[in-house]
Amino acid sequence: MKRVQVRVGNCIIGEKGRAIVQTMCNTQTLDIDSSLKQCRELSAAGARIIRLTTQGLKEVAALKIIKESLREQAIFTPLVADVHFSHEVALAAAAVADKVRINPGNFAKDHEVAKKEFEKLTDACKKSGCAIRIGINHGSLGERIVHKYGDTPEGMKEAAIEWIEMAEMCAFDQIIISLKSSNTIVMTRAYELLYREMQKRGVIYPLHLGVTEAGNGDEGRIKSAVALASLLYEGIGDTIRVSLTENPLNEIPVAEYISRFFDKEGKEARTRKPLKPDGPVLSRSYNEKSYEEFVLRASCELGPLMLNRSIDDINLDVKISGIKLEDNLLERFRDNLLQATRRKFSRPEYIACPGCGRTLFDLEKVFEEVKMRTSHLKGYNIAVMGCNVNGPGEMADADYGYVGEGRNRVTIYRKEIPVYRSVPQERAIDMLLELIEQDAHNRVFLPRHV
Ligand code: SF4
Repeated sequence: MKRVQVRVGNCIIGEKGRAIVQTMCNTQTLDIDSSLKQCRELSAAGARIIRLTTQGLKEVAALKIIKESLREQAIFTPLVADVHFSHEVALAAAAVADKVRINPGNFAKDHEVAKKEFEKLTDACKKSGCAIRIGINHGSLGERIVHKYGDTPEGMKEAAIEWIEMAEMCAFDQIIISLKSSNTIVMTRAYELLYREMQKRGVIYPLHLGVTEAGNGDEGRIKSAVALASLLYEGIGDTIRVSLTENPLNEIPVAEYISRFFDKEGKEARTRKPLKPDGPVLSRSYNEKSYEEFVLRASCELGPLMLNRSIDDINLDVKISGIKLEDNLLERFRDNLLQATRRKFSRPEYIACPGCGRTLFDLEKVFEEVKMRTSHLKGYNIAVMGCNVNGPGEMADADYGYVGEGRNRVTIYRKEIPVYRSVPQERAIDMLLELIEQDAHNRVFLPRHV
């Protein structure tokens, strides 16, 4: 079995050892001062790789300045250009970035064009030493793949194999693959299918793991920990990102914890064995230093068992620094874990992107308000997305969506249909609620999980 190692600046992805922690700026890349400041903070906090939105040639030029300034300040964290929808931009970014992220679902409309443009991109990457992430997302698969396999884990795996074969045809092996979804079952299944397929083919390319649009707070942390841990127990995954709808600095300690959890005694990574349950209800005691450490440890240990249905419920005795955890917090953790593993839905399911340079409004604030005003809508999947470039595609599972559309404008979606376009932001949450209520009244759309 050949295991490919990929160089991304000063990081080697695919080596034995801990999964490499990475994150993404949520600044406008053209705002060089803010982007530089955030890169410095993220790097100091422990991000080993940082991605920036690179939607056009102006952003490529800004990325170059940001990279040069960081290097002058002796910050050598590799930078990744996040490109969608433009092979020209990907080509230009290959000369500047340490890695270029492309999305096969929107790299080029026509597959024959995609093949030609991808060959040009690999040639440019060979010259500059740039790696490529083939970043496939549930919800933004190409039409051809969806037509053949549906928007399924199988389709995600097939799309990845197709692009791996394209890279191999170009004699380019510096590729990293991701298969993200906000649904923990879809995400873990897709990675498992791809990993088995790569084993069959005899070549394992590094995998970038992440639950996309995981949301914020405990819910976002638990969802990410459950899915990443499920895969890391199996030895699947080389670099991880925890996407939270929060300041990206908050992502680092969470990802660090998960990465360290699977670095058993600093020896060969990913040798940690899962717990062995002896019945459908797993009883366990925890005494952790902080509530956050309890949440992450218990999610890593119990979530995978819940996700693969080895257990149906948990019975926990939890102390934080020796003091018993309040019952309501414990109950909330249990509800969140059941929901993250899609075993029981006790509140609406939220799909919220982390925001990036394409977000032109205060996503964190809006998401909190949407959560507050829709908390009674158990059984609904509600999305809050930062932009209408990737947002509509990536909220694949959502029943209703609040999607940013430039400055102070929002489009309200029912499933994939934009119902109200260009709504002023101050009216948008009201209109989202009105639409949901109207639909429920007219029985146009009813919740699923109740
Ligand atoms: S959906 Fe969110 S994270 Fe994705 S590109 Fe748009 S703003 Fe950025």
